[in-house]
Amino acid sequence: MYQKANSLIQLNKLQDAQQIYQEIISINPKHEISLQKLGDILLNQKFYLQAQQYYEKFISINLNNSIVQFGIGECLRQTYQYNHALQYYLKAIQLDSSNKEFFYYYDSQFQQKQDFKCKDHPEKPALFWCKSIDCNENRIFCLICQKQNKHIKHYNGDVFSIDKLNEFLIEKLKSSKGFISECELQMQSTIKSYNKLISGLQYKFCGLENKINQFEVYQKQQVLDSLIRQDEFMNYLKHNLEGIQQKFQKTIDDLFIKLELHLIQYQITDQQIKLNQNEYQKGISLNIKNEQNEANLNI
Ligand SMILES: [Zn+2]
Ligand SMILES: [Zn+2]
Repeated sequence: MYQKANSLIQLNKLQDAQQIYQEIISINPKHEISLQKLGDILLNQKFYLQAQQYYEKFISINLNNSIVQFGIGECLRQTYQYNHALQYYLKAIQLDSSNKEFFYYYDSQFQQKQDFKCKDHPEKPALFWCKSIDCNENRIFCLICQKQNKHIKHYNGDVFSIDKLNEFLIEKLKSSKGFISECELQMQSTIKSYNKLISGLQYKFCGLENKINQFEVYQKQQVLDSLIRQDEFMNYLKHNLEGIQQKFQKTIDDLFIKLELHLIQYQITDQQIKLNQNEYQKGISLNIKNEQNEANLNI
């Protein structure tokens, strides 16, 4: 059936092919290639919303197809959702950075969106960008800025032409994945330790009520000893872990604010903005509370 549909496409009998792919999907709704082909056919015929639906079904099964990500980008661009389209072009590039077409559409969309002008001289096109870590000027700037020597201290080596900017951003974005997975690894190893501790505790103390009658004397002795020393253990936990855990949490909350994760202005939903603001408020009130506690302790 699938072969037949493919040969119909080659004969340009798109509607017949479309029907066969639809039949395949009615039998197997997760048939990836048929979902993709249906998206392609509909996109070709300018049925953008329908095409997008099939592509989206595809990515709900498989996120790693650059052509499908690009296809959604196209559907969005054709329906004037430029910002949204950019995200999908970027995903396509991340999956396959060798495809020049992806870059072309990404760049042209990006340029249009940004209308790249200098912030200090809004009538002038931005021509340069600066990557110096010590730079306090606008990082994206025009010829006048350059003549005013705003970036003179680090001009050599840190200032580049604007057409090299996307390349740099994409390269950096790729490397930030390493940073995120580092965070994830840290979190996982902490969780692993906690899980080990908790399951050990459960094994030691839980579900013994029904078994206690059948225990040998030496087993009862062990339970008795453990239970008597339970308070000692709780105190140990309180004194050693609680403080570290609070400090740990504070470090992470501070990092959230330090990295300005609550101020991100791209790729973010309203829901996330609200959440970030709440986190930020929580962070502030926590800091105030801590300062007060410290002040109280110092009295
Ligand atoms: Zn600079
Ligand atoms: Zn300027």
